[in-house]
Amino acid sequence: MRRIPRPSEQKPEQQPGRQPGTLYLVATPIGNLQDITLRALETLRRVDLIAAEDTRHTRKLLTHHGLSKPLVSYHEHIEARRAAQLVTMLQEGREIALVSDAGTPGIADPGYRVVSAAAAAGIRIVPVPGPSALLAALAASGLPTHRFLFEGFLPVKPGARRRRLEALRQVPATLIFYESPHRMARCVVDLAAALGERRVVVARELTKLHEEFWRGRLPELAAEAARRAWRGEITIVVEGATNAAKRGAAGAEDKATEEE
Ligand code: SAM
Repeated sequence: MRRIPRPSEQKPEQQPGRQPGTLYLVATPIGNLQDITLRALETLRRVDLIAAEDTRHTRKLLTHHGLSKPLVSYHEHIEARRAAQLVTMLQEGREIALVSDAGTPGIADPGYRVVSAAAAAGIRIVPVPGPSALLAALAASGLPTHRFLFEGFLPVKPGARRRRLEALRQVPATLIFYESPHRMARCVVDLAAALGERRVVVARELTKLHEEFWRGRLPELAAEAARRAWRGEITIVVEGATNAAKRGAAGAEDKATEEE
């Protein structure tokens, strides 16, 4: 891991008083190393420094594409401290790329703090878009794409998870969740209990050798999840509240109001 140079150790063009640098948010592959844009590679080649969620992971990606660049770690345990350091370096004129282990930085990954701090400091922020598991899963799900809600990871504690799902019951938008394979069985049982007979698509190992789309209804998925061991990276896409469900809920609400 690389130590961040103090201002006094920096090159003259990076000293205070110079033009501020730019923070690039560079999306990287979610599995297939070829899924990186030409602009992302060019940006990674050009910047002074790459802030990476896991420097070893990113070094492998750089090596695969014939790149070598100074790296500093930027992960959730040091996010606040590192964000402040990176903003100082940007103010001193350094060009910095932020990457996460997979997909778009800041999306269920570290990034929010440094982007927010950089924006507050008036630093130019440039997204270099590319892979994101949620959009790949949604686009290929066959479920409505015109309106969706990305929920990220559901709470690990069962009570909190059920309350969150209950709060999503009336949402008239396709729902997208990230889930870890070892929590999959418990998660889909709760999904089926809260959301009923809805259509669901499990997008597993997207862009990888064993890419799979499991399509069915939530109760079928709960039964399937009890039978099989899930492996790899999983994104779950669930149909939103249907018009019928909304009508039912509205009817129930009207009734409750009448009874008050
Ligand atoms: N920043 C990433 C993005 O833009 O998608 C997401 C990072 S989040 C920490 C990792 C989660 O994303 C995984 O646990 C899984 O739920 C989902 N994910 C990542 N890669 C995936 C893949 N290849 N196939 C399916 N889901 C994936």
